[in-house]
Amino acid sequence: MQDPSKRLNTTDHSRDSAGLTYVYPVISRRAGGVSIGINLNPNNACNWRCVYCQVPDLKRGTAPRVDLNKLELELRSFLHELIDGDFMQRYVPPEARKIHDIALSGNGEPTSAKEFEQVIELIGHIKKDFDALKDLKLVLITNGSLIYRPSVQTGLKRMAQLNGEVWFKFDRALAEERQRINNTKISLKTIHHHLQIVTSLCPTWLQTCVFQINGEPPSESETDAYLEFIKRLREEELPLQGVLLYGIARPSLQPEAPQLTPVSESWLTAYGEKIKALGLAVRLNP
Ligand code: SF4
Repeated sequence: MQDPSKRLNTTDHSRDSAGLTYVYPVISRRAGGVSIGINLNPNNACNWRCVYCQVPDLKRGTAPRVDLNKLELELRSFLHELIDGDFMQRYVPPEARKIHDIALSGNGEPTSAKEFEQVIELIGHIKKDFDALKDLKLVLITNGSLIYRPSVQTGLKRMAQLNGEVWFKFDRALAEERQRINNTKISLKTIHHHLQIVTSLCPTWLQTCVFQINGEPPSESETDAYLEFIKRLREEELPLQGVLLYGIARPSLQPEAPQLTPVSESWLTAYGEKIKALGLAVRLNP
């Protein structure tokens, strides 16, 4: 368990803060409580390379084989510690002493794990064994690029039965901007298709990160294209929950870090208002 001198705070997202391979606690400013993080990418590998990514030593690749027994042991013992032990008293400030969610969000793309479906199944079994967790939310934070895989879709279906929610990364609508920000060639057409699939399986939020590069916020052509895409999704009545609109609160650990600065709060608010005007809920997180 974590060194008591290192009280967790809103900026401590270190994956090894509990000394485990897969499970890590986060006091989340987003969540307003303890989020139980599950990191299926202890190898720091992702199929994308976002310039704002906070994963240290990020490399291209996929999740390694998941040791399901180890994950089960870690999750059960950590939940036991949170619910029946003194973890909250020792490490968590009083105002955040509640379990907010279980979040599949790690040092890479969680759906790249071959065992993704089994992981969701396992979380379902474990949740059942803890009365206190019956209504707990299960969040998947994903770049959405692997939604086409049947096993991911089965996992998403199961997630929906477990009070699940998907946060689907969609930062930029123009291909060249996605290449610059996320270092991916995924097309808007594919993203659209993946959104059709994911929203039909599990409640889904879009997750969009905005910031300045060399002092410039996203260009007007980019924001126009983004809003146009949202409008299209609305017209098609895709059942989206809304947009989580983020700034960059924590420093990037990528080489581009010195070029990145937050957009002004007024820029972020104005962008949020434009999205809201299209009829979607927006949660701002500067
Ligand atoms: S998708 Fe997530 S983990 Fe992968 S590079 Fe982007 S921010 Fe990092």
